[in-house]
Amino acid sequence: MSDDRTGGHNQWYPFMDRPLPSEVDGRQVNPAVIPVRDADELPASARFVVVGAGIHGMSTAYHLAMYLEKSGKGRGSDVVLIDKQGPGAGATGLACGCVRNLYMTGPLHSILRASVEVWESDPVNFGFQQVGYVSVGEDNQVEDYVRMHESQNSRGYPSDIYIGQDAHNFLKGLWPDFKTNACDVVLHEHRSGYAGTHMVMWGLDQKCRQYGVQRCFGVEVKGYDFDGSGSVVAVETSAGRIECEQVVVGAGAWTPQHWEWLGGPNRLDVVYPDGHVAADEHMWNYWRLLEGEVYLPEGVDYRTADGKDGPVLHVELMNTPVYAADGSMIQDHVYTYTRYAAERVGAPGLQGGTVPIKIGPEASAEPYGHLNHDYQADEWFAEYYCTTLGMLFERFENLLPHFKQRRNGGIGAFTPDNVPVFDHLRDNAFVIADSNHGFKMIGVGKLVAHMLVHGEKPWELEPFSFSRYADGTTFGDRNSNSPWV
Ligand SMILES: Cc1cc2nc3c(=O)[nH]c(=O)nc-3n(C[C@H](O)[C@H](O)[C@H](O)COP(=O)(O)OP(=O)(O)OC[C@H]3O[C@@H](n4cnc5c(N)ncnc54)[C@H](O)[C@@H]3O)c2cc1C
Repeated sequence: MSDDRTGGHNQWYPFMDRPLPSEVDGRQVNPAVIPVRDADELPASARFVVVGAGIHGMSTAYHLAMYLEKSGKGRGSDVVLIDKQGPGAGATGLACGCVRNLYMTGPLHSILRASVEVWESDPVNFGFQQVGYVSVGEDNQVEDYVRMHESQNSRGYPSDIYIGQDAHNFLKGLWPDFKTNACDVVLHEHRSGYAGTHMVMWGLDQKCRQYGVQRCFGVEVKGYDFDGSGSVVAVETSAGRIECEQVVVGAGAWTPQHWEWLGGPNRLDVVYPDGHVAADEHMWNYWRLLEGEVYLPEGVDYRTADGKDGPVLHVELMNTPVYAADGSMIQDHVYTYTRYAAERVGAPGLQGGTVPIKIGPEASAEPYGHLNHDYQADEWFAEYYCTTLGMLFERFENLLPHFKQRRNGGIGAFTPDNVPVFDHLRDNAFVIADSNHGFKMIGVGKLVAHMLVHGEKPWELEPFSFSRYADGTTFGDRNSNSPWV
């Protein structure tokens, strides 16, 4: 890579000031992958093949192996986990790591309840910081917040809601320098927070090892073989063919490829609950994410008034524009999220982002993430992000000079309603397609593993079936500029 392609970025990987990713055999190493040197050879057959060592594949493999061992219904080594690179090669390795339940799609509240139970099961090895999550909206979102609050609490996910002056008082109580203009409603989720994306990959990989999962990294899936009835009988890979009884696919941005191999449609009619039909929609649309990091200047912190680590903050002010220093409007709304991110920034700092940008049905997932020159945050992002923080906090009024110039980006494959599909595409092939907002959904792998070992599909997964697009239970009822609220 020539110097001009660094675009002035000064760091690719947390902790080290590396101007460029290292190379092996002349190819750049994806900096998000955690280095694992004790991977297994691909066996000729296995009961369970899990494709993808991201959050979903690794959580599935770990829970499957654990359930098999604990129930006596099998061995951990019955599970083979395959990734063409290694843990964290996809979106999981570079996500912001926010764990929240701010969804206008009610059934996701149960998915997050199940997920936070996993995060809480080993917060140290998953790098989970349970600092809470504070979301702020204008009055046009009050009703949505009331609904979310009721739904979260009825599904075992405690949150508090504050409206009007109560919202101002709550925010000022947390951060006395918070500017509460237009902050009309606040939701405070107690069990939410954030997790270090590399830490959870290490943690899950260790757990897979401990339960005997055969972890095959550097092995690329090339397709699936079926028998006459349409069941998967084997997975074709760059290291040969592996016969199997069950397949679980957690392929992130590569899901459309696996979906096609498994016979899923590329186009479909999408029926909504009110009866209207969006005809011949693309099954997958790619979006690229806009995120970045900023150092905290000397003497500035992200602590609350009582000295605690600040909760993750999410603010959407749909009627409040954001202006650049030269007076031009950068966006006609505020949409910003932020978490304390010292482990990521490599120094006291924040990481956050804004609404992703739709690319469309075609995009190249290779090379992925920070290596991909085409899918990094736009030039305007740094000023937008720092300005929104300055609009919200007195302490952050001059952050732009501290913006960290390094690559931050990644793409994801979104479903027609931007809500996950967790379903069988073949009788023995289950796809975890999280529509690119599921780092937080570590519990999906546990639910899937439970289903595969104990037989019944957990009720939490039912609403996310693929058949919803045909039977009129499509989601998508959200009042937000963001596709993932
Ligand atoms: C910049 C960014 C920020 C984000 N921030 C958040 C956040 O704060 N909170 C949140 O909840 N979500 C966030 N997300 C979304 C979240 O990261 C993803 O939805 C989630 O990590 C996807 O996990 P996964 O396991 O499905 O896929 P991935 O993590 O992408 O893993 C898929 C794996 O499959 C492997 N693979 C694919 N095809 C093959 C093949 N043919 N053969 C072998 N292996 C294959 C890949 O190498 C990869 O390792 C963010 C996403 C991005 C891009």
